[in-house]
Amino acid sequence: MSLILEALGLSYRIATRTVLNRVSMQVAKGDCIALLGANGAGKSTLLRLLLGLLKTDDGEVLLDGQPLTGLSRRHIARRLAYVPQSHVPSFPYRVREVVSQGRLPSTGLGRGPNAADHLAVDQALAQLGIEHLAPRLYTELSGGERQLTLIARALVQEAQVIVLDEPVAGLDYGHQQRLLEHLQRLAAQGLSILCSSHHPEHALAWANRVWVLEHGQLIADGTPFEVIDAPLIERLYQRRVGQIDLPPHRFFVPL
Ligand code: ADP
Ligand code: MG
Repeated sequence: MSLILEALGLSYRIATRTVLNRVSMQVAKGDCIALLGANGAGKSTLLRLLLGLLKTDDGEVLLDGQPLTGLSRRHIARRLAYVPQSHVPSFPYRVREVVSQGRLPSTGLGRGPNAADHLAVDQALAQLGIEHLAPRLYTELSGGERQLTLIARALVQEAQVIVLDEPVAGLDYGHQQRLLEHLQRLAAQGLSILCSSHHPEHALAWANRVWVLEHGQLIADGTPFEVIDAPLIERLYQRRVGQIDLPPHRFFVPL
C-alpha cells in the first residue's frame, strides 16, 4: 500500500470549541474514500486541514511522508487538488479558462499556456465528456456542469489526490450517478479520491473506504460494508431505518 496523505492526531479549535479532536487517518494510492457525518460534524474542516488550507492546533498532516507545513503551496497543489463545495467566481471566465487554471502550479504565472497545456485541457474535457462546454461561461453553467469543470481543472493539475466537498449536492439523479462513475474511474486509474457526502448509499456503492465523523471525532474507518449499517444511520442522522441486504447491495428504508 503506498501512502500519500496521512493525518496524525489532528485537532482544530475555534475559540474554546473543539471542531476536530485527535483525528488520524491515511489515504493510499487508488483509494476512493467517502467521508460521512451529519451537518457540522467537521467534514469540511477536516478536508481543509488535509489540504493545508487551515492550520492544525495539534497533530500534523504528512504528504508523501513530509509535514505539510514545510511544503510550498505550489508543491502541495501539484499533489492535491480541491473541488470546493460551492464555487462561484466573481468573474465570468470561460470553462476552458477555468480548467486551464489547473496548469498554474506547474507552469507558474510567468508564461501563458503552451501547446502541452492546451492538450492537457482538451484531454481533461474529453475524459469527462464536457468538450462542448469549453467556450461557455462558467457562471452560466448548471451545478453539475460546474462540478465537472472543477474536476477537469483538478485533472489538468495532475494532482495525485482529488478532494471534493459534497460534490453531488444539488445534482439531479443522473448527474450524481455520472459524477460518481467518473470518480470511480479516476480511482481505478490510480488517483486517490476523497469525497465528503451526505449519501451513505453512494458510499456503499462506490467507495472502498469510509470515514465517519461525529462531533469532530473519527468514529469509524473501514470498508463501506463494515461501517455503514442501520445502527450507524440511526446514530448519525437520528432516524430509525430498516436494513435490507441484497448482496452486493444494501438498502435502508425509513421505519
Ligand atoms: P461539516 O462540513 O461536517 O458540516 P464543518 O467542518 O463545516 O462541518 O464545521 C464543523 C463545526 O465547526 C461546525 O459546528 C461549524 O459551525 C464550526 N465552524 C466551522 N468553521 C467555522 C468558522 N469559521 N467559525 C465558526 N465556526 C466554524
Ligand atoms: Mg461541510
